[in-house]
Amino acid sequence: MMSLNGFNGTSLSEKRKMMVDTQIVARGVKDPRVIKAMLEVPRHLFVPTEYIDQAYEDYPLPIGYGQTISQPYMVAVMTELLELDETHRVLEIGTGSGYQTAILATIAREVYTVERVPELSERAKRILEKLGFDNVKFKVGDGSLGWPEYSPYDRIVVTAAAPEIPEPLKDQLKDEGIIVIPIGGRYGQVLVKGIKKDSRIVTQELFPCAFVPLKGEYGF
Ligand code: SAM
Repeated sequence: MMSLNGFNGTSLSEKRKMMVDTQIVARGVKDPRVIKAMLEVPRHLFVPTEYIDQAYEDYPLPIGYGQTISQPYMVAVMTELLELDETHRVLEIGTGSGYQTAILATIAREVYTVERVPELSERAKRILEKLGFDNVKFKVGDGSLGWPEYSPYDRIVVTAAAPEIPEPLKDQLKDEGIIVIPIGGRYGQVLVKGIKKDSRIVTQELFPCAFVPLKGEYGF
């Protein structure tokens, strides 16, 4: 059985509380739903075992296949920007470890998550099922095409960097819906929030960021 103690004697739940206080709340995240979800979801279960002692640190970590679990603060900010509530159906592109999926699914009604690496999708599915989430649907494939079967979505979040907002994602977002996505080049981007108004996306550029590239038809 996995030890609940961190390597320096601080329990993992204490580390999680510290992460939320010093990295999330101290930097201005205010949405109580996001704060509660970040306090609840055991991030250490989503990182490879050799990184468990770093699960609550202030940086992304490798999860294999050249991919990363995003920095906790980035997960919190992106989720807060979505202005999520319990009525929303969310499309997530880039399941990765499944950690952000769990945060989204703690708050929203349903989460549809697409990942191109089958092994990552399967691992994330196993962990979420073990944790008791029954409101998440997983798909393996090119998420730059979205997931048309269940569209339109109230919210869309893309956790990999794209050259621009993929057209299929614009189409699959509800009117008045929100999309959050890193836009830019392969090695540096700006986090963008878009709101769909009268079938057009009105965007706002927020701050610089660095994500792994979104591959696929509408990616790199
Ligand atoms: N939020 C995730 C987490 O907390 O673990 C981090 C996701 S990681 C930064 C980005 C993910 O996007 C990677 O797992 C990568 O394989 C995936 N990805 C890249 N291009 C994709 C595509 N076209 N469709 C689906 N997933 C894609």
